[in-house]
Amino acid sequence: MIYHIELVPRRRWISLAAAFIIAGASSLYWYNEFRLMEIHDFGFSLARSLKPGVFALCMATIAACYGFVFVNAIPACVHLLRSQRRLSAGRCHLCGYDRRGSNTQICSECGEPFVQRASLICGRRTILTVAIAVPMCLCAVVGGIATAEGLILSEERAFEREVSNFISNGGVGMYARARRWPNGYSSLVYVPGRGCHGTD
Ligand SMILES: [Zn+2]
Repeated sequence: MIYHIELVPRRRWISLAAAFIIAGASSLYWYNEFRLMEIHDFGFSLARSLKPGVFALCMATIAACYGFVFVNAIPACVHLLRSQRRLSAGRCHLCGYDRRGSNTQICSECGEPFVQRASLICGRRTILTVAIAVPMCLCAVVGGIATAEGLILSEERAFEREVSNFISNGGVGMYARARRWPNGYSSLVYVPGRGCHGTD
């Protein structure tokens, strides 16, 4: 008899929550990075935002896959190694009860059937979790990109208000400041005659 250990643990919401958070946060971060590197004009354009969006989707997919492996595969491997170590020592794979000398087929400590070996599988629970995680992560990526775009556009509107205040208060020449978090590496600039734009 084989003790099957699924890649995804029984409490699958931990795996799903981790994939959702990682996909959302990494798409927000990477969309910001690429969008501000490529586009310096103010305002939103679907055609210009497509490339940063695809890039953010790819990066978020990689990050979510790494997160999935980290959250599921590492605990599953630890569980497998512990079970194998207990089995080779003649103990119950689950609770470690010493079964040597026992004639029953069920552990008298935890009620689990005794097994010969443990193995890691990608079973129904794992497949179902991945099937739920994919659309969830896509929603998280769309949400992350929309949040990033919203942050960029709202800051551009705020900068335009600052520039009009600067001019109405008698300011002459150029006006510039760094963008706020998470885009502090780039700047917003107003140049008389050219208007407002961003820089790297
Ligand atoms: Zn046991």
